[in-house]
Amino acid sequence: QTIGENLAATVARVPDRDALVDVPSGRRWTYAELARDVEAVALGLLALGVEKGERVGVWAPNLPEWTITQYATARVGAVLVNINPAYRTHELAYVLRQAGVRTLVCAERVKTSDYRAMVADVRAECPALREVVFIGTPDWDDLVARGAGVPAGALAEREARLAFDDPINIQYTSGTTGFPKGATLSHHNILNNGYFVAEAQRWTEADRVCLPVPFYHCFGMVMGNLGATSHGACMVIPAPVFDPAATLRAVEQEHCTALYGVPTMFIAELSDPSFATTDLSSLRTGAMAGSPCPTEVMKRVIADMGMTDVTIAYGMTETSPVSTQTSPDDELERRVSTVGQVGPHLEVKIVDPATGLVVPRGTPGELCTRGYSVMLGYWEMPDRTAEVIDAARWMHTGDLATMDEAGYVNIVGRIKDMVIRGGENIYPREIEEFLYTHPDIVDVQVVGVPDAKYGEELMAWVKLRDGAAPLSADALREYCRGRLAHYKIPRYLKIVDGFPMTVTGKIRKVEMREVSIEELG
Ligand code: ATP
Ligand code: MG
Repeated sequence: QTIGENLAATVARVPDRDALVDVPSGRRWTYAELARDVEAVALGLLALGVEKGERVGVWAPNLPEWTITQYATARVGAVLVNINPAYRTHELAYVLRQAGVRTLVCAERVKTSDYRAMVADVRAECPALREVVFIGTPDWDDLVARGAGVPAGALAEREARLAFDDPINIQYTSGTTGFPKGATLSHHNILNNGYFVAEAQRWTEADRVCLPVPFYHCFGMVMGNLGATSHGACMVIPAPVFDPAATLRAVEQEHCTALYGVPTMFIAELSDPSFATTDLSSLRTGAMAGSPCPTEVMKRVIADMGMTDVTIAYGMTETSPVSTQTSPDDELERRVSTVGQVGPHLEVKIVDPATGLVVPRGTPGELCTRGYSVMLGYWEMPDRTAEVIDAARWMHTGDLATMDEAGYVNIVGRIKDMVIRGGENIYPREIEEFLYTHPDIVDVQVVGVPDAKYGEELMAWVKLRDGAAPLSADALREYCRGRLAHYKIPRYLKIVDGFPMTVTGKIRKVEMREVSIEELG
């Protein structure tokens, strides 16, 4: 199926059910209404002369028009280019040029971000950019009006020429470890992934999914939007950019049954002042993903948010994204401490990065995955593609993982984040998990910093509970003594209010390391 065919099937099945709710503006769409607006924009794109395979950029935070554009481009077979709403002119120009974007759908102004001014700044550098449509301005109505003049049958004719394995989407990776790369994905890649991720949470048309995760990222547009539309569930937008209080409010107001988030989002919601007074009793399931999911946070999400069927998913942009996911049927300990088992119709293996051979169960190695989810490649970067996808089509993720006898996967961390101290391999994740058990620590991240004697030493960045007594490095080490091997005890401690993050809510350890090194002199 193509994404358009899948949406049409859902619309035929549940035309009158809620499809999309934008809480900030109060606007809402049933599936029949969503289909009508998607078609209007698809016709508008045809009127602009958008060809099959042509790149259409979308640069906006979470607005309903983002979702409408997503499905409209899929119907005309254009390649949607997701542009990070936190980008500024330098990165915007890079993506527009790298992907050869001819048409851009764009927010006009959100909070302090003046998208119109930034687009004006880069236009001279991006000669291929022909049309810009600003959301919420007369541009949008003009687009729809132009579409009304397109001959009947033109859209059906275009759709007859689309194939399920055509490239449909370029998603840039989060840029956690370097400059983002554009993963090229097909209908088949992302539609299947969204479908299976939602299956694992047992969504039906009765589900209402709160989406504080960005649409520009696969978490929002695939696990969120495609998961919902393939099941007739309703997408609820709590705010254009993540806001913990707005998220909690949206769950209460819209009786959401599922909630998505990266761990830092759940941590912020659990510690928000409005948490205790918000009614979250409608919540049943959801997904935590994107970075290591601390066991303590998972336990609170289950116990205090009532998300009894919550799942953990692991994946990456290059694999559409999800490769493994926990199931509500798994025993509790596995549900809070592993990323589950391999998803339907996919393969996962853990190999020694040096030899490529599968390691024994329980031994850390690089996680590799194969199947329908593996991207077509990095957009116009064949050399980078060849570095990660081998001749047998295995995607090498760059993540270290272990697999137990029953096939449950545990993510140990990124290969690049591993610390080697005095010849011992240390996985920061393990130390972070331990430090979360300290009663005054609400959030913690550990990085390696260079050391003359041991090669590297550990530094913990710690966010303390409001009102907690000051914590010294000595006191922290005392807490660890006898519970962690001596070489795993952080030498340095830095108390912080937050961490350098990507817009997808991932901790930028590269930047943490730079800051740490600078401060240590
Ligand atoms: P870049 O590739 O540009 O450096 P990125 O890898 O953060 O950025 P994404 O594709 O958004 O970009 O993220 C995928 C990565 O996120 C995975 O490779 C993995 O390191 C991490 N990740 C995702 N889910 C989980 C999870 N459940 N547990 C641990 N790590 C996870
Ligand atoms: Mg990556």
